[in-house]
Amino acid sequence: MSNSAAIQSVRGMRTILPPESEKLAQLSTLVHEILSGFAYQPWSLPLLEKTALFQRTIGEETDIVAKEMYTFADRKGESLSLRPEATAGVVRAMIQEGLLQQPQRLFVEGPMFRYERPQKDRYRQFTQISVEAFGYASPALDVELMLIGDALFSRLGVREQVSLEINSIGQLDERRAYQADLVAYLTQHKDQLDDDSIRRLETNPLRILDSKNAQVQAVLEGAPLLEDALGEESRQHFKDVCAMLDALGVAYVINPRLVRGLDYYNHSVFEWTTQALGAQGTVCAGGRYDGLVEQLGGKPTPAAGFAFGIDRILSLAEQAKPFSPPTPLVYAIALESAQQTTVLSLCQSIRQAVPSARVVFHPEVQGMKSQMKKADRSGAHFALIVGEGEAAEGNVTMKNLTDGSQHTVAQADVVAWLNTQRA
Ligand code: ATP
Ligand code: MG
Repeated sequence: MSNSAAIQSVRGMRTILPPESEKLAQLSTLVHEILSGFAYQPWSLPLLEKTALFQRTIGEETDIVAKEMYTFADRKGESLSLRPEATAGVVRAMIQEGLLQQPQRLFVEGPMFRYERPQKDRYRQFTQISVEAFGYASPALDVELMLIGDALFSRLGVREQVSLEINSIGQLDERRAYQADLVAYLTQHKDQLDDDSIRRLETNPLRILDSKNAQVQAVLEGAPLLEDALGEESRQHFKDVCAMLDALGVAYVINPRLVRGLDYYNHSVFEWTTQALGAQGTVCAGGRYDGLVEQLGGKPTPAAGFAFGIDRILSLAEQAKPFSPPTPLVYAIALESAQQTTVLSLCQSIRQAVPSARVVFHPEVQGMKSQMKKADRSGAHFALIVGEGEAAEGNVTMKNLTDGSQHTVAQADVVAWLNTQRA
């Protein structure tokens, strides 16, 4: 029996086609430019890691590890997972490759996988860029990471649409003391908490602070503040971050409820948020995680970083200014197959001379009319046409597709001619 039903893609995993794919590629180039300007270098890491890596870094009780990972046994029965984020793999590599002696600034761009309910800007495979720095304990590094976001959002023309929220979560022992106070307070108000929060009272009480539930938020109004539990050193680190941002003129909002639920996080946490995308308000999230390298078996190494999903950044950027795919400079047509190699060769010369130019070669021999229609539809500035007559004379016909004017140009002078037109 044959089953001829067409096979569909896995839910939440998209085929991204032009123009969106082209816009994402442009955005990615722009992000690389900015990161290169800050001297962060690209790293490439496996998409698959041992499941234990994520259990030990992200934490068993987090949504990501508890509910969202794609985990399976390989042919030898070893449990592997598709990476849900990049930091775990980066730290694994830092230790495995013996990179802890020198400071490192790097980024990882690529697909991440999370089994979530798919919706707009939330997918099961999505592209994230993760930016990390190792070996720097100074609050100035935290600020540098925030400046990368500032530069990116400014470049995209959406700096006004995003807001930088920051907080300090201090050190582990300070949080432990605070957590006891918080649990005591919330236990008194247990009847007003939702199921999620009641569960977190046991598993991860700090995470209740960033609950989105309105009633829980109302209860939190009266809760003790983490800030009051911080010691002198932690306060100073945070003061330094704020003072540098002030001096640099980077606007920020202190959000005393911004937390991270895992032990290895400390000091600065920050998020870039926006009202412009509806439910998916966080476009970028980061912080300091000085305890992570040690937790994975490396020597204690200060570290900080942030990650952003490129889809959400594109949605946001497009609200300010639509990305337009590059329009071809030239649409090149051979009227007969005898002229095709000449035209292919002219296309090569133009691409070589003007690397940024898009040059479309029309690979079929068709009627002049239908070829010109395709040239017009491509949005190209010029059509380059070689027929028998042009070939015999060593010329081309260049047609300006905007004003319709035609010019006979020697083949050897095509690049020079285009340059006069572009100037
Ligand atoms: P959220 O609360 O939105 O689920 P998160 O805390 O799970 O976010 P992080 O793990 O901090 O997100 O990831 C950082 C960024 O990665 C997010 O701000 C978002 O831009 C992007 N991101 C996270 N999950 C997805 C997803 N399923 N699809 C697309 N982008 C995502
Ligand atoms: Mg999530």
